[in-house]
Amino acid sequence: DTSHGVILYLDAIEVSFDGFKALNQLSLTLAPGELRCIIGPNGAGKTTMMDVITGKTRPDAGSAFFGQTIDLTRLSEPEIATAGIGRKFQKPTVFEMLDVFTNIELALKAPRSVWASLRARLNGETRDRIDGLLAQIGLLDDRHVLAGTLSHGKKQWLEIGMLLAQDPQLLLLDEPVAGMTDAETERTAELFRSLAGKHTLMVVEHDMKFVGSIADQVTVLHEGRVLAEGSLAKVQADERVIEVYLGR
Ligand code: ADP
Repeated sequence: DTSHGVILYLDAIEVSFDGFKALNQLSLTLAPGELRCIIGPNGAGKTTMMDVITGKTRPDAGSAFFGQTIDLTRLSEPEIATAGIGRKFQKPTVFEMLDVFTNIELALKAPRSVWASLRARLNGETRDRIDGLLAQIGLLDDRHVLAGTLSHGKKQWLEIGMLLAQDPQLLLLDEPVAGMTDAETERTAELFRSLAGKHTLMVVEHDMKFVGSIADQVTVLHEGRVLAEGSLAKVQADERVIEVYLGR
């Protein structure tokens, strides 16, 4: 439901591991269609936050809602995926022994949200949909190539295409440009900008040049909570942020 201005709502989330607070009163909201980058030093809680959103980790306290009504703290990982939240881990996990086309085809046939299934049925023609996705991720000419032989960048785009086949409303991406060449990074920035609006993106990334090229809003996490939020220029000028990064 995108009618009321909040697609992800996290409020006062707490996660402890043996008494250590990985998330400590973490509150954050995302508006539909926004492209938010999450930065912060190692151990800040970025991964734990994504684990809470995707149902991999249950918070000890706090609220987590997807849209107005979907309580993420009560759903399983597969239920959350089906509700429309896709996650991409840092390492690409494509089917290496299958070609690019078949990878996307399998992703299209995996179970997904009622809306996505309905839309797929209304639109008919799986093949056109696959070609559309291949064009979107820039792999139309690689359709018959074995996924295992693709460059690192192309594997990452293929996996993003497989996520898009599920038509997620919210996409969580963990360090998507790590290990990419400059050209691949630029191409990825273009892809993300083209996805924003239709999808909501939450991107954890250390590459500040990339962050500056895609994000309207940046959230800085530190010690399990939000330290600063705003444009990259604004948070980079924030004394507390400078201290956290230089104090490492
Ligand atoms: P980031 O992704 O920002 O580097 P994490 O969310 O991975 O941070 O980790 C936050 C803190 O929680 C770190 O201090 C980490 O060591 C700790 N942590 C994360 N997961 C576990 C776990 N399963 N058991 C114990 N400690 C954990």
